[in-house]
Amino acid sequence: MPSAKRTKPMRRGIASGSAAVALTRQAEDYLKTIYEIERNGDAAATTLIAARLHIAPASVSGMVRRLARQGLVEVERYRGARLTIRGRRRALQMIRRHRILESYLVTRLHFGWDGVHEEAERLEHAVSPDLIERMAAALGHPAVDPHGAPIPRADGTVDDMRLRTVGDLAVGRSARVARMSDRDPALLRYLGELGIRPGVSLRLVDRAPFEGPLTVAVGRMRHIIGTAVARQVYVR
Ligand SMILES: [Zn+2]
Repeated sequence: MPSAKRTKPMRRGIASGSAAVALTRQAEDYLKTIYEIERNGDAAATTLIAARLHIAPASVSGMVRRLARQGLVEVERYRGARLTIRGRRRALQMIRRHRILESYLVTRLHFGWDGVHEEAERLEHAVSPDLIERMAAALGHPAVDPHGAPIPRADGTVDDMRLRTVGDLAVGRSARVARMSDRDPALLRYLGELGIRPGVSLRLVDRAPFEGPLTVAVGRMRHIIGTAVARQVYVR
């Protein structure tokens, strides 16, 4: 068997969609989900993927094996899936689409920041690379989306550092809100009512013992928030 066939040149860069194999919408969602789980430092266990995608763990295993055959993930026995370089590139490409769509919907079409996640979840699988790049250009190539999440660049790089949450702050310390989870519209509306948005400064005034509520000062206002909320608000 001639071995020359095996030495395919490596493709680099995420901007051109042409080099990439077409993936199903479901596969694209898996890659994004695995990326988000890995961001927190561990391999993506089947149970974690299933919980985030709201599906049965049994169906996750099959899809993960398929992604492994396509060279997009590697499976570590008893631990879970990790993205390969190619898989990570595809995941970041999807995340770039998602976050540019959200930015465009909020900035240009005046959607509320609590309403754009679901729209972007649907559109990200349908838009062409050209449309996304035109949207990015029309917005002046923003660095973050409306929820403060970094938008991966067209070359596939991203400054996606792990951040502390309000819940991690020491009492008396101030910090600037960097980003928040975009998955729960009700949470975003609630935070919006409290004036807690990316770019806003806040101070942790008090923390009740035994995982009790936190008192935060936002401008002249003081709010009492639950620990579950404090864990969703990232600061720097
Ligand atoms: Zn979103």
